[in-house]
Amino acid sequence: MKPGRFSYEAPVSLEAALNSLATWRDDAKIIAGGQSLAPMLNMRLARPEHLIDINGIAGLAGVAVDGDRLSIGALVRHHQLGRHELVRRHCPLLGHAAETIGHYAIRQRGTIGGSLAHADPAAQLPLAALALDAELELWSATARRTVTAEAFFVSIFTTAIRPDELLVAVHLPLRQPREGWGFRLFNRRAGDFAIVSVAATLARGEGAVIERLSLAIGGIGPVPLRVEHLVPAELVSTLTVSWSERVAAALAATMEIEQNERTPVVFRRELVESLTRDVLDQALERAQ
Ligand SMILES: Cc1cc2nc3c(=O)[nH]c(=O)nc-3n(C[C@H](O)[C@H](O)[C@H](O)COP(=O)(O)OP(=O)(O)OC[C@H]3O[C@@H](n4cnc5c(N)ncnc54)[C@H](O)[C@@H]3O)c2cc1C
Repeated sequence: MKPGRFSYEAPVSLEAALNSLATWRDDAKIIAGGQSLAPMLNMRLARPEHLIDINGIAGLAGVAVDGDRLSIGALVRHHQLGRHELVRRHCPLLGHAAETIGHYAIRQRGTIGGSLAHADPAAQLPLAALALDAELELWSATARRTVTAEAFFVSIFTTAIRPDELLVAVHLPLRQPREGWGFRLFNRRAGDFAIVSVAATLARGEGAVIERLSLAIGGIGPVPLRVEHLVPAELVSTLTVSWSERVAAALAATMEIEQNERTPVVFRRELVESLTRDVLDQALERAQ
């Protein structure tokens, strides 16, 4: 299929893009990597009157350490996340998650801003952003605000971005000493969207103490969810024999999983348990 008619512009400044968004609002769509939007245009699931191509805005493509945060511009491509020295050092979970997205060609074009704004419930980067306590910076022509990843993902393909706003950057806390991370997904064929995916970071204290656990799961509902609070705090906070198995079993036993036609709840519950156990083991090993 072919897309409907639309007008097109490619501003080279952020100001011009924001002014255009302020004029067109709901009638416009931003295009970044085009890896989700182009198929939607072709299938006429999206029918904007106007496209604003942000690929020429140089200021959106950087990665930098900014105080105690890693700041990543919205136009940074999935393949750059996987290879960038600063991402590998300070936020390896994000880089690893990006490397598991789709296929080579998609990772060359797709952007972090596009993936977060698209908010596919099975996507890797929303899950990683949630596990990592990311903050998302949204600009309009008249205002700037920052929202947490938890507040950003509202529902399936729906975010807190207003019609006149652009996602300009993502900010993530730097990885701390004795902090480990883990990430795993299950899909039927390499390159397919995940059926269930799990991401975690944890910080070890002295001896058997787990000082902090952040655990996020995708594929169980309309948005990825933070779930560490579903496990009893006393089970999480002390490293015991079979700790990862016990935490994973407690989580899988209490977790609400939405029905869908494609994959039975019972199967996804088993995936939650086994992927969580593996991810916790990975995180523990990396936290040494
Ligand atoms: C065959 C195939 C397989 C794929 N497999 C996976 C997969 O396994 N995992 C996965 O996570 N993704 C997958 N994707 C999607 C891919 O990761 C996309 O790159 C990503 O979802 C969107 O990024 P994009 O830059 O291409 O955004 P675009 O397609 O350009 O835009 C997507 C949406 O975000 C909006 N948008 C883009 N940038 C901004 C911004 N800065 N501010 C506000 N709104 C913005 C657009 O208006 C649009 O609504 C796959 C895609 C294809 C075609």
